[in-house]
Amino acid sequence: MKRKVCKKCKLFVKESVCPICQSSDLSENWQGRVYILDADKSEVAKKAEIKNKGEYAIKAR
Ligand SMILES: [Zn+2]
Repeated sequence: MKRKVCKKCKLFVKESVCPICQSSDLSENWQGRVYILDADKSEVAKKAEIKNKGEYAIKAR
């Protein structure tokens, strides 16, 4: 089974609810993957407005 990402913040989610935004709006329709270690120093994180470290999809619909 494909992993799920939160549609709002694009974080990979193991549970049925996103631990960051508490959204249950998850999607298996995602592309690309990026691991953010330090959101404050990462250009990718800034562009994607990611504020927490973790594993994110680049695109999610
Ligand atoms: Zn979320």
